[in-house]
Amino acid sequence: MRIGFIGLGNMGRPMAGNLAAAQHKVAGHDLVPTAMADLAAKGGEAATSIAAAVAGAEVVVTMLPAGAQVREVYLGPGGVLAAAPAGALLIDSSTIDVATARAVAAEAARRGFDMLDAPVSGGVAGAAAASLTFMVGGSEAGFARALPVLQAMGRTIVHAGPSGSGQAAKICNNMILGVSMIAVSEAFALAERLGLDRQKLYEISSKSSGQCWSLTNNCPVPGLVPAAASNRDYRPGFTADMMLKDLKLAQEAAAAAGAATPLGAGAAALYQMLANTGLGSKDFSVIFRYISGAGA
Ligand code: NAD
Repeated sequence: MRIGFIGLGNMGRPMAGNLAAAQHKVAGHDLVPTAMADLAAKGGEAATSIAAAVAGAEVVVTMLPAGAQVREVYLGPGGVLAAAPAGALLIDSSTIDVATARAVAAEAARRGFDMLDAPVSGGVAGAAAASLTFMVGGSEAGFARALPVLQAMGRTIVHAGPSGSGQAAKICNNMILGVSMIAVSEAFALAERLGLDRQKLYEISSKSSGQCWSLTNNCPVPGLVPAAASNRDYRPGFTADMMLKDLKLAQEAAAAAGAATPLGAGAAALYQMLANTGLGSKDFSVIFRYISGAGA
């Protein structure tokens, strides 16, 4: 398939590389020239503009920082909607606010394009290994057309519902993750003050009702789960800044929808405080240091 790929950053670069490795014809565009050179070295094609990337494309994939860039790339002059061939399937895999995802997809539909929101989880490692999870919002027909493309970049691909549902799933999941990471950190900080051995708490909670991904896969306390970022001075992984971004998106969506999310709000505030101490580029499990008073 001929695929236009826009946004060749930490995630987009390996994702586009995997599409090229799966024998798709990939033309990639980014504002950063080295990103395009990297794709060309992996068998893709460097496109110097959005129009050049989407020329002749059957599918367009975007992987951009936030909603503002998605609006610009799709709706701006010389953008995707102006330049893509009629009938091209549009897939935005960026993590953005639900309202922008729905608005851009509606404008795309008005101009005759089927557009999906398809944010991912799995991080840079998942992008490199083509093992991402895709949460997809949009039409059934669009989802069916997207499957072979998404399968070249990911392992678990779920159609979450109509337009915006992928973004909704992503922020709900990450709100669980942020809150659970804080809960685990608070429990270990309390255990320490109570003189309870951290290894013993792990042994018990990992087999009890406190068990969760934050505890057993990315334990914020060093020395308990070998693969956890806490054992590598909190080298990410998934940064605290990205967690903060997703928690803020969840709060925006909650406010707009009238949902009560007091723990999500608390988690957003705590991650903001953490970021303000200069720890935002560490893995998000570094919140344990902040909560336990171990300092920056
Ligand atoms: P990144 O900042 O590394 O990459 C974004 C790329 O988009 C950059 O290379 C930038 O130059 C390019 N870009 C921005 N505006 C552009 C424009 N107008 N035209 C062309 N290119 C443009 O970000 P990333 O880590 O690759 O993340 C991308 C998205 O994926 C974000 O929404 C992020 O929240 C989400 N995400 C990231 C991770 C992760 O672990 N990095 C995990 C899950 C989801």
